[in-house]
Amino acid sequence: MPDGGATRPTPPLAARSPYELRVNLGSGVPDADVRTALATGDMGFLHSFTTGSTVDGPGVRVVAWTAGCMWRCLYCHNPDTWKMSNGMPVTIANAAAELRKYRRGLAMMSGGFTLSGGDPLMQHRFAVKLFTAAKAMGIHTALDTNGYYGDRISDAELETIDLVLLDIKAWNPARHRRLTGMDVGPTLAFARRLAARRRPAWLRFVLVPGLTDDAGEIAQVAAFAGALGNVERVDVLPFHQLGQHKWEQLGIAYRLSEVQPPSRDLVERTCAVFRAAGLNAA
Ligand code: SF4
Repeated sequence: MPDGGATRPTPPLAARSPYELRVNLGSGVPDADVRTALATGDMGFLHSFTTGSTVDGPGVRVVAWTAGCMWRCLYCHNPDTWKMSNGMPVTIANAAAELRKYRRGLAMMSGGFTLSGGDPLMQHRFAVKLFTAAKAMGIHTALDTNGYYGDRISDAELETIDLVLLDIKAWNPARHRRLTGMDVGPTLAFARRLAARRRPAWLRFVLVPGLTDDAGEIAQVAAFAGALGNVERVDVLPFHQLGQHKWEQLGIAYRLSEVQPPSRDLVERTCAVFRAAGLNAA
């Protein structure tokens, strides 16, 4: 792992893109302080803030990228967000102040604030506090999550989230475990709960040739999502290699270096499967 820590100046919280490699920004925080932060939500660990996203929810978005994820997706674009200690410690007050800078612009562009990661629910108390602050500013809120820790959020706290961008990586349990290292069950349970509570959701499906392009399996994801009744849109996200350099710089074995992005035809055929289940897919 490269040295991104003590001898280098801390980068600004705002980043040009989440593809900037960031490591060890929170490594000096004592364990007790990390535990207190997680228990209270008064401090979070962030990879960065980025602005101008048009792919992380409706309109133009400010996105805060959290550090911390228990999954190990083979195609992860941001493996530097896996470790919480790679994130920059940011108080809830400072995070809210950063968000406040963009309040008027976001309103003009019918946009909002998206919390992504990593998985934001690794820091669910911080996430809820930041969403609550955003709502108090009149900002639309979205949570981008794999859903594994969805049960950490109470029904009342769900109301602070206007939209959940839920990643379903695969349907078959064994395939899901090979792809992510984790079970798919909690994600599907969270999807059902969002539907039962009529919370708006967008489904995100990363299309990787040879890994997630099985037509029968996509049809099962589509049938599940179509039956939920709260999925407003499906984003079929073509696999790309923009995160590969991070795996190499972090010294983590990357198994997808030979995988090509899906063809336009494959993306379109995948969207068609979701549309056939009554969903709006692009
Ligand atoms: S859930 Fe997201 S952040 Fe976590 S390993 Fe998978 S792609 Fe990466």
